Amino acid sequence: MTGDVIRHGGNAPIGADLRDNGAVERSLETQVDQAVEAWLRWLPRWEPATHRGRVAPCRRCLGSPVLSAAGLGSDVPHGVQHGLSTRIKTIVDNAVAHYTARNLPMLQAELDQQADRNRSRTYRPAEGLEPEFDGLPMDPDPVPGAPFLFTIAGLADEADAAVPALPPLTEDAKAALRQEVRLADEYASMVGREVCTILLRHRLRIQTAVAQYVEPQIAALLDELTRSLDAPFDSGDGLPGV
Ligand SMILES: [Zn+2]
Repeated sequence: MTGDVIRHGGNAPIGADLRDNGAVERSLETQVDQAVEAWLRWLPRWEPATHRGRVAPCRRCLGSPVLSAAGLGSDVPHGVQHGLSTRIKTIVDNAVAHYTARNLPMLQAELDQQADRNRSRTYRPAEGLEPEFDGLPMDPDPVPGAPFLFTIAGLADEADAAVPALPPLTEDAKAALRQEVRLADEYASMVGREVCTILLRHRLRIQTAVAQYVEPQIAALLDELTRSLDAPFDSGDGLPGV
């Protein structure tokens, strides 16, 4: 950590909060507990998707250390994973936002400007979604040869283009900003590791809930699939088009 950040914002004690400040650690623990509780309350409502899923893997969930810590491996349906990974991501994002507001003035100023600009967009379909939907693609996969008349992402891009871009930064400002972004990233990694440690304590409850609410539905789906694969020879109405 050098020059600019110290000059602008005083000492930015990466990790001091988590290592020395029991209150912050306790509050992370409370937040993770609450996130897991909220996810456990939602889980009984989960149902397997009946529509065709996206082909592209979810960048938030694929290989997520948070999901590994929670014991939600790749054998668990993505819809089940996504609600938890989003809730945990929100906790990490909030912790980093708090740290940035206190320690990283250039980054905070940049984020404030971007937030102002974002608020002035007339169409913001990606905001205010439930955790189960937040961060997922807004449009279905395109079908070759059958273009969409419009897409939600396209409309959002048009609304974004209608708002003037932020003024360019000087090279010095860019370098200082990059330094603060790096510090924010380091802090995010540390909070992420702490959150994973806390999640380990919830694995048993999470896995018990998956066994209760998710696995029977998957078993029923597989049964149904087996029956419909056997059926065409009997009735001819098993799998359409097969
Ligand atoms: Zn996901």
